[in-house]
Amino acid sequence: MVKVADLGFSYPGGDFRLRVPALTLDDGERLAIVGPSGSGKTTLLNLIAGIFRPNTGRIDIAGTDVAALPDAARRRFRASTIGFVFQDFALLDYLTARQNILYPYRIAPGLRLDAAARARAEALAEASGIADKLDRHPEALSQGEQQRVAICRALVTEPKLVLSDEATGNLDPESKTRILDLLFARAEEAGASVLAVTHDHELLPKFDRVLDFAEFRQGRPA
Ligand code: ADP
Ligand code: MG
Repeated sequence: MVKVADLGFSYPGGDFRLRVPALTLDDGERLAIVGPSGSGKTTLLNLIAGIFRPNTGRIDIAGTDVAALPDAARRRFRASTIGFVFQDFALLDYLTARQNILYPYRIAPGLRLDAAARARAEALAEASGIADKLDRHPEALSQGEQQRVAICRALVTEPKLVLSDEATGNLDPESKTRILDLLFARAEEAGASVLAVTHDHELLPKFDRVLDFAEFRQGRPA
């Protein structure tokens, strides 16, 4: 599903360097990334999602070299293939929870907002415990509720790859397990792979593989 090779990236003007010699994620695989703050985990997810472009190397997703795509094509590819749960949720204040969940349909030309998509949004909200909050704006939701909206938005398009950046960080222990189970169940139904950055060590046994980013960056391939 994902194949990263000889990846190099630095922020313009910054002194942080990310180097990823090799990283692969199989179809349907659930990989957790753990590692110290500032080690480049969020940067890597942004590169895989095609939000940033690497300076060197390749990132193949389902056989497409995303780094080589022009901007518009990369955005289209991302919207149709990848669900991203951002560390800071990235919800839009002026939209309700329901509109936020359905937002991918506003921006991706290839996605159709039909009855099935609306039903998926309702079902995801129900399963994650926010069905009664769908008409609220983010400001009227708790951090944990906003996080669930962000997770529903990442799953509503049935993406083949789910990238998740500390997606359970603001939830109580019971909700963490429930939300991760939901994410895995939906991913399995869609045949999707999951790449999740997490600090929740109690959740790690649920993953197929755990990558320690600190060790990994020393050059150990994964
Ligand atoms: P992590 O998610 O593992 O905490 P990040 O990928 O967010 O780490 O950050 C890795 C490094 O890149 C840090 O040193 C951070 O300060 C730096 N960094 C992150 N975003 C930017 C940016 N937009 N411009 C310059 N440096 C950045
Ligand atoms: Mg981060």
